[in-house]
Amino acid sequence: MFNINDIVEFKIIDINHEGQGVGRLDNFVVFTDRAITGDYVKAQILEIKKSFAIAKTIEILQASPYRVKPECNYFETCGACQLLNLSYEEQLRYKKNIVINTLKKSSVNIDEAKIYDTIGMENPFGYRNKTAFSVSKENSFENKKIKIGTYEQSSHKIVDLEQCLIQSELADSILNHTRKVFEKHNINPYNKKTKQGTIRHIVIRTNKYDEAMLIIVTNTEELPNADKIASDLIEAENRIKTIVQNINDKNTSEILGHKNKIIYGTGTIVDYISDLKFIISPHTFFQINRIQTEKLYEKAIEFAQLGKDDICFDLYCGIGTISLLAAKNAKKIYGVELVEQSIKDARLNAKENKVDNVEFYSGKVEKVLPMLYKQNIKADVIIVDPPRKGCEIEVLKAIKSINPKRVVCVSCNPASLGRDLKILQGDGFKIEKIQPVDMFCNSVHVESVIMMTSCGFEGEK
Ligand code: SAH
Repeated sequence: MFNINDIVEFKIIDINHEGQGVGRLDNFVVFTDRAITGDYVKAQILEIKKSFAIAKTIEILQASPYRVKPECNYFETCGACQLLNLSYEEQLRYKKNIVINTLKKSSVNIDEAKIYDTIGMENPFGYRNKTAFSVSKENSFENKKIKIGTYEQSSHKIVDLEQCLIQSELADSILNHTRKVFEKHNINPYNKKTKQGTIRHIVIRTNKYDEAMLIIVTNTEELPNADKIASDLIEAENRIKTIVQNINDKNTSEILGHKNKIIYGTGTIVDYISDLKFIISPHTFFQINRIQTEKLYEKAIEFAQLGKDDICFDLYCGIGTISLLAAKNAKKIYGVELVEQSIKDARLNAKENKVDNVEFYSGKVEKVLPMLYKQNIKADVIIVDPPRKGCEIEVLKAIKSINPKRVVCVSCNPASLGRDLKILQGDGFKIEKIQPVDMFCNSVHVESVIMMTSCGFEGEK
């Protein structure tokens, strides 16, 4: 048996959902950082719990054959892409296993389900169309050096980034020009401790056509030299199509505040999913990986198997992406979403794309769905794409009452997905297909689409 602070050696047999290497030692499961399946490590025990222990990797004694050298210069400090040292093929296998193991752990019966390999990207870099960075300055009076980047793991120090491999070359260029322009105008980043200063974050959004929106998040209404900052930025990088100042004077973890002031351009950019056009404002929720979103939603619609007479509910519909994509295959789509602005955007997007067989409701799905049922509006197919915490129990109960032919679940969290599927399975739905999709390449996040059929409708599959 080992004790706290002991130096131990063991083989890594798996990677858990947080990206830690998993090993076994004296009947204990041991989790250790920065280690991947196939490594043999030397580690120090930090904590011992009832059935598992936590360690810190000291040395990789024997490297796994799946190990690759991270191309990123910031891998050791920036905590965003935990899997950069794992070959991409192995990342895809890891994500499929996470889905399978988490569903099994949730007692979901997947014995008869067809489980597909993770759909990956040809190039798993440069995919993020939205990145947010913090802005800071060393605490000295004469020092003009501005730092823009992400926080170091479990620290308040900023990693001053010049390049981020998962964003576009355009976003890198904007990041570096913004730093220079802020230095030229001697701007004062906001300091959390002293509560002094102006600029807190920058957010960069880019689109399919390599155009960008830059959002400068300030603590104050006033951004000194706003127009000069904007003209210098546009001159340095003419792919910036709009610059917006966002005001956030609250001390929360939210990056954006409620108020926007347009400094340059229209305050919006346009992006596309398949052949559908979407207008993006600073607050618009839009999936961060356009290429994989197309694959994810195509799969969801394929699994929905909509026919020309089918009514479909798109629950947690955001700005209506799935609704609009599914509309051409169905008689009518009803989209439901909590955030009123997203529903306004969804209606606008329907108009822009000339889709008229969709109807959007703003409100909580758990309230709206029972109401639709009472009004005798019933769905042949229901698609759900809930937030991380999954569906409310009332939503699952209403799905049972409606008893659609098929339910398609899109999920970014296998744990809450497992809980929801277990309930739906108990209510007579059978899991037919499981498709993991890699939306967040090089990170530990896993997305998946599930097709379920109602046992009462088995003849019509
Ligand atoms: N399908 C959407 C994205 C879904 S993300 C798209 O294609 O863009 C999950 C969505 O669920 C978010 O838009 C969030 O605002 C919404 N949401 C969260 N809780 C909700 C609830 N209780 N009722 C309705 N919508 C909710």
